[in-house]
Amino acid sequence: MAKHSKVLIIGSGPAGYTAAIYTARAMLEPIMVQGTQPGGQLTITTDVENYPGFGDVIQGPWLMEQMQQQAKSVGTDIITDMIKSVDFSKRPFTAVGDSGDTYTADSIIISTGAQARWLGIDSEMKFSGFGVSACATCDGFFFKDKEVIVVGGGNSAVEEALYLTGMASKVYLVHRRDTLRAEKILQDRLFAHAKIECIWNSQIEEIVGDDNPKNVTGVKLKSTVDGAITEMKIDGVFVAIGHDPATGIFKGQVEMDNENYIITKPDSTVTSVEGVYAAGDVKDKTYRQAVTAAGMGCMAALEAEKYLAGKKF
Ligand code: NAP
Repeated sequence: MAKHSKVLIIGSGPAGYTAAIYTARAMLEPIMVQGTQPGGQLTITTDVENYPGFGDVIQGPWLMEQMQQQAKSVGTDIITDMIKSVDFSKRPFTAVGDSGDTYTADSIIISTGAQARWLGIDSEMKFSGFGVSACATCDGFFFKDKEVIVVGGGNSAVEEALYLTGMASKVYLVHRRDTLRAEKILQDRLFAHAKIECIWNSQIEEIVGDDNPKNVTGVKLKSTVDGAITEMKIDGVFVAIGHDPATGIFKGQVEMDNENYIITKPDSTVTSVEGVYAAGDVKDKTYRQAVTAAGMGCMAALEAEKYLAGKKF
């Protein structure tokens, strides 16, 4: 089946939904292809205190449901499918979904976001889902009264560690340096928490565990100072070391930087292909906030609208 739209939005985080709201209200009848994780990264967070407009603390999944509802109610056609390839070399642009459906469009807004980064050691994959996770909100429940490690030193790692104190008996934050890059307010909360202990200058060398039933029992830690290996008993490992942009399908189609983030013109969402725009974490490694992603979604919609107004399709 082939579907044509003036604007095709690929990806459904704050950037995508905002682009959908603006283009729908501009009567451009956008189609949004949601991907496998509708709502994106905010669907695996809990409290959101920094998205303006809410006097009380709100929940990430709830915020994304609201955005989706708003995009739908102003006229966005939201489709559950996963785009697996695109062709931006000829017009109309085409995108093919996992479903086998083809989407053609006069303009494209890319808002596929970013994905969790893994340590890249064999044992991590072996125990993924069996004591190793990249999402405390999803899997923390399974570690009630157990001891866990969170790896990383950024906002995500600190937030995951704080969240896990709600169920785990002890949370170790393992970081490869001796200072965190997380915001000061989060660091203060972390250091003040009785259940949290930081293990500095250390990296996980190996995750060890049982095969039957498969579960994590410990880790081997390597000192980043002198290479010394220490063993430690632990029930779970949460990896929170950042994200990679979800740009695999756009390789060779739009210009990207050496970290595979889509390059856009300064102060805009315009990519190297006229009529193709990129908004949110897929092009932003500086701010990476829901509110900045939403702002970029708005910019992309306005830029697409202007582009379409100047063309006859
Ligand atoms: P991040 O800021 O990039 O931090 C990644 C952390 O993981 C760093 O501490 C890094 O160590 C460490 N790391 C990276 N690769 C590693 C490896 N292979 N082995 C061990 N450690 C490794 O990522 P993030 O915490 O996911 O945050 C991403 C962005 O989202 C940031 O801009 C952040 O401010 C934002 N964010 C905001 C909020 C909020 O406002 N509430 C919440 C979450 C995220 P080094 O420090 O040594 O490089």
